[in-house]
Amino acid sequence: MENVLRIGISDMTEMSEINELGINENLNLRYCSDIIYTYTGSILIAVNPYKPINIFNKEYVKKYHGCNFGVLEPHVFALAEAAYKSIVDDQVNQSCVISGESGAGKTETTKLILQYLCSITSNVSSWVQQQILEANTILEAFGNAKTIRNDNSSRFGKFMQVCFDEINCIKGCIIQDYLLEKSRITFQSDGERNYHVMYQLVAHGQTNQQMAEDLHLRAPEYFKYLNTSNTEKIDINFESAKFDALTMAFTVLQLQQYSIDGVFKILSSILWLGNIAFEDIDGEGCDFSPADHEAIVIISKLLGLKCSDLQKVLLVRQINVRGNITEIPLKLQEAIENRHAMAKALYSKTFTWLVTKINICTNPGQDGSNFLGVLDIFGFENFTKNSFEQLCINYTNEKLHKFFNHYVFALEQSIYMEEEILFTHVEFTDNSQCLEIIEKPPRCVFKILTEQCHMPKGSDSAYLNNMHSEFEFHPNYIKGSDRRHWESEFGIKHYAGCVIYTVDGFVEKNRDVQQDVLFDYMSRSEDAFVKDLSQYQDQQFIKSQYCSTYSRGSSKTKLTVSDQFRHQLQSLIDVLQNTNPWYVRCIKPNLEKRPNCYNALLVLDQLKYLGIVDIVRIRREGFPIHLNHEEFIIKYKCLMIRKSFANTHNYISDILEIIKVSSSEWQIGKSKVFLRNVAYQLLEDRRKQII
Ligand code: ADP
Ligand code: MG
Repeated sequence: MENVLRIGISDMTEMSEINELGINENLNLRYCSDIIYTYTGSILIAVNPYKPINIFNKEYVKKYHGCNFGVLEPHVFALAEAAYKSIVDDQVNQSCVISGESGAGKTETTKLILQYLCSITSNVSSWVQQQILEANTILEAFGNAKTIRNDNSSRFGKFMQVCFDEINCIKGCIIQDYLLEKSRITFQSDGERNYHVMYQLVAHGQTNQQMAEDLHLRAPEYFKYLNTSNTEKIDINFESAKFDALTMAFTVLQLQQYSIDGVFKILSSILWLGNIAFEDIDGEGCDFSPADHEAIVIISKLLGLKCSDLQKVLLVRQINVRGNITEIPLKLQEAIENRHAMAKALYSKTFTWLVTKINICTNPGQDGSNFLGVLDIFGFENFTKNSFEQLCINYTNEKLHKFFNHYVFALEQSIYMEEEILFTHVEFTDNSQCLEIIEKPPRCVFKILTEQCHMPKGSDSAYLNNMHSEFEFHPNYIKGSDRRHWESEFGIKHYAGCVIYTVDGFVEKNRDVQQDVLFDYMSRSEDAFVKDLSQYQDQQFIKSQYCSTYSRGSSKTKLTVSDQFRHQLQSLIDVLQNTNPWYVRCIKPNLEKRPNCYNALLVLDQLKYLGIVDIVRIRREGFPIHLNHEEFIIKYKCLMIRKSFANTHNYISDILEIIKVSSSEWQIGKSKVFLRNVAYQLLEDRRKQII
């Protein structure tokens, strides 16, 4: 029998005094002893250790499997076990919502949950389990990148539904992705990198002459898109090994060789696009520089296009005036931007194509039983400069926060009902108002933006003006950080704090002009994969009982980015609402990605964002102190002269009469005594006087 060292309090709802400071000290104390997990009721708090901790091996899987929640030390395995057990026992769908800021450990937690589920549901690693784990290898290569906050930062959100069959074994999985960051393809800030797969591909080209020739790869320094920032030199061996793992994952997910080759051709063509320089012609148009010709020839080869067609998409814009197509030369800056847009469109189309392929391969079929969904999605963001992406991210967090509030709130109230006590509705400051200003038609932040995007001359400044006049007096709206910025900013008071958004680029980003002409040429490509990709409709294909209907919108309806995202998010919430939710709140202990370093001030902010303080508040406003009848009697018997009793309920109420406090401050339930702080404090004072 292992001796578990008890350090701090493992379930913070058992703390006699709940406040931010106490929570923070408790987490810190445990963290210093490498205890990264702590409960707050059934909510798991995980502090990123930034070092390997030996609590995830097979022994631990065995230990937690079959064990009830709360019996052993807090662990992510305990949560996964409890969720799985609910599926087995109650046949109810489950979800694990994992939140926290970038680098807090969400993706690692997701992987641990998946690994746990895979190991407990089968002794031999079956094909489908292997596929689920390898799907992550692909998603990480294409969707993760080094940022200043996290060396392996996911630049997209994901919801993975692991589906079980009648005998509760894993039979498949469905992945939904959210908002891949496209700007990273063409630009990276200092200390950050492009997507991992780009380096893996180029590094492998350095060790494999044939592949380098076939795909026209060069050294990593050669490609502009890999060198827009100052980052350390890439480690060829490391990246190349990752490339091997990626191709292995492609094989496990049964991608055909021509598609695998096709994906790499697209990646290489993106890199070559980045190298085109363009030259200005009298401020009216532009042409390629002499050095560009090699790039043009290579990209045409890679994409199976005619050189002349490619040149056309790169140099002119086609406009349709009453059925007549007119070609207008692109000015230098326009050509540069257009080329970036092509690179981004190619990449994001490839990404969604991959997600779809993975889904086809791991599709659980229609006749399913239950699922466990794991949500690994971006946390609240508030930077010095916030744009459209941050608005979407923070909107997501508002949505999830509302869902979380309801859960915590409903849970507390269900205990009251179970215990059959009288309770008044606990007042709760919810975030509905903030959500309404963002998403509620007819007039809201997103609708006004979409309206602007549908206008031929729509602009960021017109958008901002409309916003100011619409919401000037809305309690959740601010016109900018100060008077000087009223013409470039607006602010929203989110539940986690006020965020100022710089309106620059909103209209363009929301419009997300597709590269229709490019994809049209690609549909006539000589390369089978390029042809497939161009014709692939960006639509979710699975409409099974597991998901409500997702739709990315077809080209006909031309949904804007925010429209699509809003629908996706609503579908997600609809799915979550029909599950039993579990929460993991991940916390980042320091900004330096260092082990053994706990910055209490930094954590305090996150405790607020993550709603930990809200749970505390709910418990305060309700009856924060729950004591079992026996516990209560043992503790406060000292207040009574009469030590023996026949009726527990009467004896408890006799004790409570002594403190002469309004009976609204306490309640006696079927097995528990519920106290508000006033009553509890008076009881404690009395007790301390006596002993
Ligand atoms: P997020 O997805 O929240 O942005 P990640 O899950 O990618 O964060 O974690 C960031 C880094 O922190 C990981 O690459 C890893 O180095 C470290 N890390 C996170 N969780 C753990 C853990 N349980 N044990 C050890 N290291 C961890
Ligand atoms: Mg992540």
